[in-house]
Amino acid sequence: MSVARDRAEVAGLDGALAVAASAGAPVRPEILLTPGPTTIPDAVLAAQAAAPRYHRGPEFQRLMADVLDGLQWMLETENEILLLTGSGTGALEAAIVNCFSPGDTLVVVDNGYFGDRVTRLARAFGLEVVPLAYEWGRLARADDVADLLAARGPVAGVCVQHSETSTGAVNDIEAIAAAIAAAPGRPLIMVDAVSSAGALPIRGDEWDLDLVCGGSQKALGAPPGAGFVAVSERAWAAHERATCQRFYWDFDAARSSAASGPETPWTPAVGVIAGLAKALELARAHGREAFYAAHRLNAAAVRAGVTALGLELFGEDPASAVAVTPVRMPDRIDADEVADHLRGRYGIVTAPGQGPLRGAILRLGHLWHVAAADVVTGLAALAAALEDLGRAPAGGDAVAAAVAVYRAAGAWPR
Ligand SMILES: *Cc1c(COP(=O)(O)O)cnc(C)c1O
Repeated sequence: MSVARDRAEVAGLDGALAVAASAGAPVRPEILLTPGPTTIPDAVLAAQAAAPRYHRGPEFQRLMADVLDGLQWMLETENEILLLTGSGTGALEAAIVNCFSPGDTLVVVDNGYFGDRVTRLARAFGLEVVPLAYEWGRLARADDVADLLAARGPVAGVCVQHSETSTGAVNDIEAIAAAIAAAPGRPLIMVDAVSSAGALPIRGDEWDLDLVCGGSQKALGAPPGAGFVAVSERAWAAHERATCQRFYWDFDAARSSAASGPETPWTPAVGVIAGLAKALELARAHGREAFYAAHRLNAAAVRAGVTALGLELFGEDPASAVAVTPVRMPDRIDADEVADHLRGRYGIVTAPGQGPLRGAILRLGHLWHVAAADVVTGLAALAAALEDLGRAPAGGDAVAAAVAVYRAAGAWPR
């Protein structure tokens, strides 16, 4: 696509259409309604595109210091933050290998695909995983966590997804963390906040969270490539004893800094970190509440649109989903086929169902910087795609329903 677009710029618009058509590629950039990567603000793209700074020296150290400060602010914590080059899964792996040992018991709250992933990850390093499993789409309950921990006796840690991106379910971290904190042996509280950091309040210190893991490319609106972990004193103490094999992700290496400021032990993704620094600068200028409100508003507009179409939302409490809205497809229509058609014909990129939900649901992501216009275009395209596939939705006007939500919030036109 980029080749087609580059050539298009030389050839002018008519040429562009011809070139794109011959390459089978869309002329316009696709609209990402995916739960990460997401639409990136222009200022962040520009920051990322600047020539990379040398990663040893004051200029990069200032950038790092800004990012670490910004993340502490976003996660409402004084705990040390480690910035890692990698994705969210890298941050989760770093937390596991640094704070646990083979044979340790880790309870993993599992109500979706990402709970499964942490289970597999921890087992790969020899941890004993006790899943607290729910049917996908259901919310985890603090009482269940408390009961399990009381029955098992002391365990090393509990991991829970904040926003379970495969189903949109938002687990109540405040209540679950309180249950873990009151359990025998005070297990470490590990939170997968990859799709919630920026989308939902995370009161790291107030909730006494030990390991909060996130990534750059979701609700923070930065490019993919940086992960981070906030590490409590309790987690540092566990790190002293932890014997999992590690090298690249080692926390001691990651916290090392030059006398003049923080650095990374290995060459970092400098451009990504420059983008993340800009994204966090914008976040501070807008305030956390603006981020949360933007997520709630886009989610409400998407819900209004898809329900107006007569489609069903998936999960126990779809109204709580803020990063992504899971939509059931009508019987006998394959969600993947709808997704392919939306992308191929309309340039709208959505996310397929994962695991057992593959083919049954379509996930519409609406992270931070996704514009109302893109949401509305996506909903119009969804209605058209179903019609193209011979499954015209039974309901009414998705666009009007979504626009009404934006208008009621004073967010239309912008
Ligand atoms: C996206 C995501 C991850 C991991 O993502 P990466 O692709 O490795 O960045 C982990 N957990 C949740 C809840 C996610 O949404």
